[in-house]
Amino acid sequence: MNHEALDGIMHPKAIAVVGASATPGKIGYTVLDNLIKQGYTGTIYPINPSAEEILGLKCYPSILDVPGQVDAAVITIPAKLVPQGVEECGKKGVKGLIVITSGFSEVGKRELEDEIVALAHRYGMRILGPNIVGVLSNSDGMNASFAPYLPLPGKATLVSQSGALLIAIDAATYTRGVGFDKMFSIGNMSDLDFADIIEWLNDDPNTSCITLYIEGFKNGRSFMDVCRRATKPIIGLKAGVSAHGAAAAASHTGSLAGAAKVYGAALQQAGVVQASDLDNLFDRTLALSLQPPMNGDNLLIITNGGGVGVLATDSAERYGLPLKFAPPEVQAELKKHMPDFGSAKNPVDLTGMAGNEWYHDAVKYAYAHNWVDGLTILYCETAVTNPMEIAQSIKAAIDESGVNGKPVSVSFVGGERSEKAMAWLVEHGLPAYGAPDRAVNAMAALREYARMKAIASESITPCGDEGRAIAMKVIEHARLDGRDSLTEIEAKQVFSAYGLPVTRTKLATSEDEAVKLAQEIGYPVVMKIVSPEILHKSDAGGVKVNIKDEASVREAFRTIMANAKDYNAEAHIHGIAVQEMAPWGTEVILGSVNDPTFGPTMMFGLGGIFVEVLKDVTFRVAPVSSSQALRMLGEIRGAPILAGVRGESPRDRAAMAETICAYSTMILDLADEISESDANPVLVYAEGKGVKVVDARIILKKK
Ligand code: ADP
Ligand code: MG
Repeated sequence: MNHEALDGIMHPKAIAVVGASATPGKIGYTVLDNLIKQGYTGTIYPINPSAEEILGLKCYPSILDVPGQVDAAVITIPAKLVPQGVEECGKKGVKGLIVITSGFSEVGKRELEDEIVALAHRYGMRILGPNIVGVLSNSDGMNASFAPYLPLPGKATLVSQSGALLIAIDAATYTRGVGFDKMFSIGNMSDLDFADIIEWLNDDPNTSCITLYIEGFKNGRSFMDVCRRATKPIIGLKAGVSAHGAAAAASHTGSLAGAAKVYGAALQQAGVVQASDLDNLFDRTLALSLQPPMNGDNLLIITNGGGVGVLATDSAERYGLPLKFAPPEVQAELKKHMPDFGSAKNPVDLTGMAGNEWYHDAVKYAYAHNWVDGLTILYCETAVTNPMEIAQSIKAAIDESGVNGKPVSVSFVGGERSEKAMAWLVEHGLPAYGAPDRAVNAMAALREYARMKAIASESITPCGDEGRAIAMKVIEHARLDGRDSLTEIEAKQVFSAYGLPVTRTKLATSEDEAVKLAQEIGYPVVMKIVSPEILHKSDAGGVKVNIKDEASVREAFRTIMANAKDYNAEAHIHGIAVQEMAPWGTEVILGSVNDPTFGPTMMFGLGGIFVEVLKDVTFRVAPVSSSQALRMLGEIRGAPILAGVRGESPRDRAAMAETICAYSTMILDLADEISESDANPVLVYAEGKGVKVVDARIILKKK
């Protein structure tokens, strides 16, 4: 149903414009005019009850009066008339609707929007929009939009949640020289959303890279699934990553933009390359649409200028592709194509004396060499060289090398002649940029794509026990009690049901019982207040550690009780938890949120000041395999602390990863119950010695 509707929308043999107008300036006029004048070769039916003929075409009062089959309909009539228009399209057997009209959920009219989707589905149709600019396709010669012209032809396809931005990007394709085959405006995504369109584009022979402008998703998980399965590069620019930006995006599209870090994690997990801003979106789209992925870390840079070489070296490190020296035999060969004072290390500096031939020979040799996974070629305009000839030498060298499937990026720094040479390179499939940083960043995008794709296609082996029955008993008990948070003791029962290593903990309701439990557990023990109203126990003077004997247990019991009453006289006190005292270890924090877009999501970071001040944490949408969890451990800035610094032995990262994996199983399995949770702190011991969860908290979803 999805493919058929999009085939109908994108390759229609006949298209109707419902609301076609004879008045220039009206959307119903512009769309019709664009279809007629910009290459569409199928049949066009203007629909308007009060006109006989528009722009030389016979006009029909209703789509039902059209004699032949109609595959797609562009709807431009006022919002309140759209339901009737949709119904008539349904009766006519239209496959897909491009609803340009605005005035639906983006202005609070969700019911009207739901109504048109329900109507469309009743007739087996799908809706693109409403509140969109339309769709454009170079390969179909079709501009079914009110954007003034088709984009510069190319191999990328844009899917944009913002209509205004689509029109601007469309115009900018010409000045930036980045070509697109298609552009989809998807607006309110009432029906067809990112996932549907990406799935369709993955089978579109004219699209080699899918470029997304994202404000928010309706269903983050279906987006992730489709992206993971896609075989083409997908690049996304997510707007609304600052708290303020998120609010702006929300009022704009009527859908909530998720937290920046969660989006970042989700896109990465889905194998979607990210762009940092609009410029970067163009730059990376150009590389991803023209070049294959970079399947290893060895980037070689060839340059005729030391300065741009150093700049590129800095960029390579910044973008996660630090340069390595080329192997000796590669250096020896490259030495033949430069003067004595050149350098064959990496960057390979052919020096300012380099002409067409040296470029040609060095590029041809390097590109074909196995050690090289990707090649970035830099050129500074000189008095004695001609940029166009250098460009042609580079292109010839690459073609003659007989190698395929290895990426190249180019940067020429200079004036007009360099600009022209770069435009020629792009036309011939080589992405070229006016600054070395951009050429290296483009290569980094190709590397990120390959890396993420490998990870995204890993299968996720679940870990942790199937603790549902035990967990649900604990949760139901708390709910019967009228609570939406669990005490530490209860939360640890839930954690433990899923195989998380928690400290042995028992509840004492009297001093005598506390003494008995302490003996059972074994000294030293820790004692903590247990009250649903006291979530931050230390703040209430409710935690005593390292209690070594009976007298201290009795004293701690009395002090904690007194402190708790001082802190909150109304608090219901279940008693005092007596628990095993875990030996000292590195403190980390695990937590979860139930993200509105992506559902259960894990957080990991180092405890204490690292999380509170530096916010040094990382996220993953659940489930998280242990190998992914290991990557989380390596991702935080404090990673060296876990790896072992200054004579400290490395921490048990394998056990930590297993724990993250089990935790993620728990939050996914209890997605309907848990709204937020944390294990703060978890103590991590030396390799082979495991981890211990010493505090646990679970906030339930309100029911
Ligand atoms: P809260 O976070 O509610 O104040 P915690 O249970 O996290 O209370 O206890 C406060 C601190 O006491 C912890 O950060 C940890 O350093 C220490 N602690 C708590 N329980 C234990 C335990 N069982 N073994 C060792 N140290 C503990
Ligand atoms: Mg705590």
